[in-house]
Amino acid sequence: MSPLIPDTAPFNPQQRAWLSGFFAGVLGAGQGEGASGSTSTLAPVADEDDHPWHDAALPLGERLALAKGKPLASRLMAAMAQLDCGACGYLCQTYSAAIATGDERDLTRCSPGGNDTAQALRRLVAIEPPAAAKQQPVASSADASKYSRTQPFTAQIASTTRLTHIDAPKDTRHVAIDLLDSGLTYEPGDAIGICPVNCPDLVRGVLGVLGATGDEPVAVEGGSAKPLRDALSHDFTLARARPALLELLAKSASDPQEADQLRELAATEGGPLAGADVCEVLERFPSARPPIGDFVATLQRLQPRLYSISSSQRKHPGQVHATVGVVRFESAGRWRNGVASHFLGVRSSPGDSVRVFVQPSHRFRLPADPATPIIMVGPGTGIAPFISFLQERAATSATGQNWLIFGNQYFDLDFLYRESLDQWSATGLLTRLDVAFSRDTAEKVYVQQRMLEQGGQLWSWLAAGAYFYVCGDARRMAPDVDADLKQIAADHGSLSPDEATAYVARLAKEKRYLKDVY
Ligand code: NAP
Repeated sequence: MSPLIPDTAPFNPQQRAWLSGFFAGVLGAGQGEGASGSTSTLAPVADEDDHPWHDAALPLGERLALAKGKPLASRLMAAMAQLDCGACGYLCQTYSAAIATGDERDLTRCSPGGNDTAQALRRLVAIEPPAAAKQQPVASSADASKYSRTQPFTAQIASTTRLTHIDAPKDTRHVAIDLLDSGLTYEPGDAIGICPVNCPDLVRGVLGVLGATGDEPVAVEGGSAKPLRDALSHDFTLARARPALLELLAKSASDPQEADQLRELAATEGGPLAGADVCEVLERFPSARPPIGDFVATLQRLQPRLYSISSSQRKHPGQVHATVGVVRFESAGRWRNGVASHFLGVRSSPGDSVRVFVQPSHRFRLPADPATPIIMVGPGTGIAPFISFLQERAATSATGQNWLIFGNQYFDLDFLYRESLDQWSATGLLTRLDVAFSRDTAEKVYVQQRMLEQGGQLWSWLAAGAYFYVCGDARRMAPDVDADLKQIAADHGSLSPDEATAYVARLAKEKRYLKDVY
């Protein structure tokens, strides 16, 4: 990489770095030697197509103001938390598009947006009901594939490999899926949508407490009737008992004491039973046995989960890989398994079926110019898309430099993909690899400490047009990394705090600072 300022210019190294960063970031040049030369020096930023409200740092009111006067799908999108976290089973844009077309009626799926988002969505659809919006063309990020979240492809598990040591507190798995003859294609940065199947023990438990055989036909949204066992396995969430179910049980309880308790629980969003699953609630109130059709009607639809893809199709034609952190947590006094992560990472074996679709990202992409350097910050499962990036860059012989900053708890227990990373360091594909293991030392060390230690280097990479990527935890890590990126700009670019903030904002608007956080 060579800096933007010629060697002959009369500046010391610090001034040179500052000026290069200034031109690269503030003026939008962003393209030193070895970087993409395709954009103009004063490239416009964030036009309408870019969804200017798609910035999680903006308050809800500002986001809504930016979308004022736009079609309903855009205004709905502005109400989302803008994290593209996939917790709702969509991306922010596709969730809002589905509400606007009337295909999705649940307005409470944006968990990071919480009540504020749900209320804003309710207000918006009250003003313009989705049926009216149905006439409007809605931008969709779905790909041209015939498979989608509503029509997933039935693929096959190829292999599941544990990435963490058996003694590690975390259980992280690498899952390879055969795409068979689907013709599904994806790009590095895309996500794979997985339609989970509920744990058979849980399904058996619910059938048992209901006294059902499982063959009873029940209605499923968007389809014809199917046997209760299939519907409970594939279509409905059993992991949480919603207030609607508690209300129904209260109405059908023959024991007045149970009915009172259920009414109280429904009014307090589950109260002490808030984390209990459907089976536990039915067991607890044996006098409450509503008709099966009514019971099923209160259950929430089981949504697909999105995982960042951790493979390049150039290296693994016919397959897609995911890095799955197996979720296990305690709630309402019992240990529980994450629905999708347990299905995919633990219960599935090679040859098993799994329904999948590709969720294109459009935003979290490698630079168009293969010579552009990239800096990737990905602790924990946040490393997933960077495995895809690195495989892609190796497969395409991209000449751009690659810097990965990875962190996890213990070097010996959860250094994910260590073998591949060592190999890529040896071959030179990885120009730099920095690691931070938080629990190996008395004082915690996080990825951003490595960034700060290498602040001068990081600044000069940015000055030479590098893209800066962050993937992983949205709540703690991503804001801390963001703050330290500004700190580096201030320290090494001699910028004031406001200028450093403007510099980082500009990087984001130029799509050189990209986040895939959840
Ligand atoms: P993680 O929890 O992000 O932990 C990875 C490393 O980051 C650990 O060493 C951790 O240290 C460290 N860390 C903690 N706070 C940090 C901070 N403020 N700045 C920088 N590093 C920090 O990794 P993971 O278990 O692989 O999970 C990744 C994240 O994805 C989780 O945080 C979780 O929120 C999210 N997640 C999402 C889903 C989903 O389906 N959407 C599923 C699973 C996980 P310590 O642990 O020692 O503090």
